[in-house]
Amino acid sequence: MTLETLLAAKTAIVGVWFAGFFIAERLAAAAPPPSSKARLFRNAGLWLIVFLAAPFIVAPLTAWGVNHLIWKRPDAMTMGAVALAVLAVDLVLLDIWTYWLHRAYHRVPWMWRLHEVHHRDEFLDTTSALRFHLGEVILSAALRLIPIMVLALPLTTVIIFEILLLCSAVFHHSNLRLPKAFEAGLSRIMVTPSIHWIHHHAIDRDTNSNYASLLSLWDRVFASRSPAERRPDMKIGLQGVEDQSFLGLILMPLMRIKK
Ligand SMILES: [Zn+2]
Repeated sequence: MTLETLLAAKTAIVGVWFAGFFIAERLAAAAPPPSSKARLFRNAGLWLIVFLAAPFIVAPLTAWGVNHLIWKRPDAMTMGAVALAVLAVDLVLLDIWTYWLHRAYHRVPWMWRLHEVHHRDEFLDTTSALRFHLGEVILSAALRLIPIMVLALPLTTVIIFEILLLCSAVFHHSNLRLPKAFEAGLSRIMVTPSIHWIHHHAIDRDTNSNYASLLSLWDRVFASRSPAERRPDMKIGLQGVEDQSFLGLILMPLMRIKK
């Protein structure tokens, strides 16, 4: 399949998934949403910038990476049941990469300047999953060339992972009310809102925990799981700082570090 076909499939799948959760969280909200709609416009604006720029920056970067692999996988890895097993291993490795990249965004001051834009959101819903500074999206795509080229990942695998990651992000940022027992069971395997909302709790200790994006076990394996439990009234955002205007968010990475 060509890059264009894969990207069109990704946009269609993630678009339908997002629309479903966007409507559902408004019909069955877990936490009462704020009355102001200003953050929705800020999140939509940041997403629009990424959406418009990605085809010219992120997609060519990924395409370049899969054309400059440092070794070639033997044909035996690309056939039948072996191919499926290899795909599963590749997806797990990309998930571990994403965990450590997220942790680096919190720990390395100049990377935090980019990621802070995502964390300044003072409420969470599906639109928070779209709220990233273009600089973070470009940096993540550039650094992901390392696993792509070292593991000799096929383009299809990278796009499948992107679809899973985006669908997971929409889900775990969402404000959808879920049956408690169902969410507790699911959170043993996947990152659910009950886990990720703690990562957005406006308490430094919780902000620097729960880094996993897809599979929830990495925070237990790498000792970064917060013991805190999600409450509907918990303060979302960052400790001691407030959200910014749209322009302020775009310029934030160029400003002084405030955390
Ligand atoms: Zn984070």
